[in-house]
Amino acid sequence: MNDDTLLVMLGRRSEEHYGCVNPPVYRTSTVLYPTIDALQRAKPHAGVYYGRFGTPTTFALEEAVAALEGGHRAIAVSSGLAAIASSTLALLKTGDHVLVADSVYPPTRFTFDQLLRRFGVESTYYDPRIGSGIKDLIKSNTRLVYTESPGSFTFEIQDIPAIAEAAHAKGAIVLMDNTWATPLYFKPFDHGVDVVIHSATKYLAGHSDTMLGTVSSTQAIHDRLRDGVAAIGAIASPDDCYATLRGMRTLSIRLARHYNSGLILAEWLRKQPEVARVLHPALPGDPGYALWKRDFSGAPGLFGLILHPYPTSAVMTMLDSLKLFGKGWSWGGYESLLIPTNPKTIRSATTWDYGGTTLRIHVGLEDPQDLIADLTAGFALLRRLL
Ligand SMILES: *Cc1c(COP(=O)(O)O)cnc(C)c1O
Repeated sequence: MNDDTLLVMLGRRSEEHYGCVNPPVYRTSTVLYPTIDALQRAKPHAGVYYGRFGTPTTFALEEAVAALEGGHRAIAVSSGLAAIASSTLALLKTGDHVLVADSVYPPTRFTFDQLLRRFGVESTYYDPRIGSGIKDLIKSNTRLVYTESPGSFTFEIQDIPAIAEAAHAKGAIVLMDNTWATPLYFKPFDHGVDVVIHSATKYLAGHSDTMLGTVSSTQAIHDRLRDGVAAIGAIASPDDCYATLRGMRTLSIRLARHYNSGLILAEWLRKQPEVARVLHPALPGDPGYALWKRDFSGAPGLFGLILHPYPTSAVMTMLDSLKLFGKGWSWGGYESLLIPTNPKTIRSATTWDYGGTTLRIHVGLEDPQDLIADLTAGFALLRRLL
């Protein structure tokens, strides 16, 4: 079955739910067994056991994500950051070394710099465009190479197959944050990735009303990951699993629209005199375009742009004047957002030497011509302020 069909069929099991099209929200802590003997024989991770190990609603979502992504199994957790922290805690121990892309989602650095460092796990940040050159950074104790492609603030595409080959040659595993592409537009397990995390908060849930994360892996790693993640107890609520599965039913049509409108806006922005650079890997001419074209089958509505140098106050006034672009964190909902980012202060292995403000745009499901009209008025205001 193709992905569009899988999105409709996955995780339903109507015959187990009185024929209802959707699986219900099972809320439970206690699970009752018919006898004490049955209670004592039951095991976690083998069906419904205790609320913290998941309910049929949780399993429906996990099945859907795993099947779509092509991994062995998926595990639902309470947020994208919980997926990052719990999977790395599950896989790493004192004395291990990790390589982390310098372009990662900034809070990922909390996990490495604040949490894992205190447990004696050393991390080195690397240039996301390093490709097979990563082999020179792999040490005898390097256990994990952490990737995010493209980085969700600066949009460099990573050569994941080359990184995976170099990592595997030295016994390290590769973890990828695949939130940007979603399981529809990039298939990490086909490109050598061992562990995939998602902030399902973004496109999978898709309506800015849910926080959820997923961790998927190959069969070889699954049990270790499952036990380590379970030990932390950062579980997803059945309601949030339901909301995410509901969101996934329309993932393909929403993404197609984000993809198309995103490119319309990116091409328009590239022509504006105020814009120095557009950071969109699916735009011909972008430094990541060749790799994107080789490995990805689409692009969502999230990309970056760099303005020419203008006084910060004028840029902020322009952003505040926009009517259709929200000022808020996160992305992947149906609505457009536009915020300044500050890669210069976040990076440690590479520099970000642009004079003007770097912005991140999420192109939502509005009519792209309305979004362009809003930005046109914003740029006109910016010119008046100079
Ligand atoms: C938002 C985000 C996360 C964290 O997800 P939460 O659900 O907000 O915890 C991780 N990675 C990327 C790329 C993100 O955009």
